Amino acid sequence: MRPEILNPLFTDVTYLPGVGPKVAALIGKVAGPRIIDLLLTLPTGLIDRSSRPQILQAEEGQLVTLEITVEKHTPPPKGMSRIPYKVICSDQSGFITLAFFHARSDYLLKNLPQGATRLVSGKVERFSGGLQIVHPDHIVDPDNADALPLYEPVYPLTASLHSKTMRKAAQGAVERCPDLPEWLDPALVAREKWPTWPDAMRSAHHPESRLDLTGENVARQRLAYDELLSNQLALALIRQNRHRSAGRSLEGNNVLREAVRAALPFHLTTDQEKVLTEIFEDMAAATRMIRLVQGDVGSGKTVVALLALLCAIESGAQGALMAPTEILARQHYEFIAPLLAETNVSVELLTGRDKGQERQAKLSGLEKGYIDILIGTHAIFSEDVAYKDLGLIIVDEQHRFGVFQRLALQEKGVHADVLVMTATPIPRSLALTTYGDMDISQIREKPPGRKPVDTRALPLERLEDVTMAVRRAIERGEQVYWVCPMVEENADIELTAVETRFAHLQQSLGASVGLVHGKMKSAEKDAVVTAFYNKEISLLVATTVIEVGVNAPDATIMVIEHAERFGLAQLHQLRGRVGRGDRQSTCLLLYKANAKGELGETAKARLNVLRETDDGFLIAEEDLRLRGPGDFLGSAQSGFPDFRIADATKHKALLDMARDDSTLIISQDPALETGRGTALKTLLYLFTRDEAVKLLKSG
Ligand code: ADP
Ligand code: MG
Repeated sequence: MRPEILNPLFTDVTYLPGVGPKVAALIGKVAGPRIIDLLLTLPTGLIDRSSRPQILQAEEGQLVTLEITVEKHTPPPKGMSRIPYKVICSDQSGFITLAFFHARSDYLLKNLPQGATRLVSGKVERFSGGLQIVHPDHIVDPDNADALPLYEPVYPLTASLHSKTMRKAAQGAVERCPDLPEWLDPALVAREKWPTWPDAMRSAHHPESRLDLTGENVARQRLAYDELLSNQLALALIRQNRHRSAGRSLEGNNVLREAVRAALPFHLTTDQEKVLTEIFEDMAAATRMIRLVQGDVGSGKTVVALLALLCAIESGAQGALMAPTEILARQHYEFIAPLLAETNVSVELLTGRDKGQERQAKLSGLEKGYIDILIGTHAIFSEDVAYKDLGLIIVDEQHRFGVFQRLALQEKGVHADVLVMTATPIPRSLALTTYGDMDISQIREKPPGRKPVDTRALPLERLEDVTMAVRRAIERGEQVYWVCPMVEENADIELTAVETRFAHLQQSLGASVGLVHGKMKSAEKDAVVTAFYNKEISLLVATTVIEVGVNAPDATIMVIEHAERFGLAQLHQLRGRVGRGDRQSTCLLLYKANAKGELGETAKARLNVLRETDDGFLIAEEDLRLRGPGDFLGSAQSGFPDFRIADATKHKALLDMARDDSTLIISQDPALETGRGTALKTLLYLFTRDEAVKLLKSG
């Protein structure tokens, strides 16, 4: 249960003064539905009204706060509503006019009574020789000077949400900050000179300079640290829970693994062997395995998965291999099934396409234990799928799954080991914040005999030359991929682009051109990709559906249109689709040229990275540096945690501290029972890491 002290923060924003259901809906868009969401939405800008000159010193265009005396009201002549209502004011230095269009005179007479002194704040303009402020932002009585904020924070806004409304709501939220117990190590707080959490919140919402808006500000540092700590502590609790929860030992007798190794047409690379050793050690241990295997496209993860599955089968358990798409599931099946032909291991494929009796037969085979290995899409973990004895779950192309989804998955096989595989090399900071609950293995070495792909950049205008080169390659019996970019915000444009390109290429190259895109039914997609795979088609025009997994060894050219719209890591992944056979392969990046018809600096810089290295890990680091974590995978469902205040790439030092801190905390106070432990639970609830707190009780 969430501690009561946090209740005021977890109430609806409508409890704040001035926030009705309409405003709440708007705030919901920019911050979220609850008061804590407002608190975690820090100002992004600042209006500085602290300049307080005398009237004559005020400069045109300057935002000032003036102390003036009201001299005279001049309403517009009757029927001339386009002329403003003017209020002439003065100080010792001179005069200024306050101008109001469509004004209500009773309101102005009440707020600016003749002879009264007022503080007014607004932007100074010059109008027919005199100074004026049109519609001052603030008019207050000097006795009530506090009502005029000299520094106004600026918050993210959305249509019809006024700055003032948002500011008022945020300040209301800040006033509700309870005095929370300190969860940080006092020595750390002293060393960093950090304020308490409520003070940090107050201060972060009251910036007084541009500097206060940066990540360097101590209040923001503290808040970022709290967020990172909650993330790292939650992950550490998940790790701890796994280590404590009874797993099962899957040791096997090596018989199946030896048989399949002998049937392989190649020897495993040193990295593949190393990763397998790590996996087998985990599987043999009585604790549950959760291991991530990172390896570039083509580094040979499938065979590693197969050998791990066989270890589970040798131990009398079942294994499941889940792929993100049907095409990929089928390719896995087609790779694995022949290798098992000489053994008595039974392997089946289950996708969304299995319906009725066929599906029932597979499900019952699985439940009775006749099926040893099930390969498929997420369908293999549907509600009605029951395993007799699931020992190992392998998830391919993991980056689509978040931490807690992984937890849910595990519930299918009570003690099942989990192995996740990804071709997206994850930079360290992201690996820590996202996969911190897992052990990580890397395959960095590629199987021997791969020739580096010749990577070139061309302006889009050279399309005809590219088409000619493609034609020549096809005449030599080679195959070609032609990728058009995803247009995420507008699927229709994407479709037109890819269909137009398809029609154009089909016209100039003839019938051997195929098309796959995201809007096609999976059966249609499968048919086209299979035709390419079987060399019935020479050129495959595609959106990024081909990004993961598909394997066609005779493909030698990869054309990527609008390469500027892709991230480096994505370009690298696409490039990995070619260069799998003996022939020299090429990757052509078509960029939108700049006004001079040249490649821009960015295009050149990106090309250089891709040219200089074929190491996906280095490319990923560079990609992250160039684009920031949000766009890193070009996808909202990437599963990366959405930090509200912290930025894992900019706050690297804080992240490392939080990692060490949480490891220490767990080792000293594994159940979070001490005084500080209790405060840390509050921190976890504050950042809605309730799932992690629950683990404390089940452990
Ligand atoms: P990944 O899933 O990591 O992208 P795959 O498992 O699809 O890569 O492997 C790519 C290709 O390399 C496949 O054709 C596979 O059979 C082959 N392969 C895997 N390991 C080796 C190896 N050690 N030596 C030679 N070829 C290998
Ligand atoms: Mg793969």
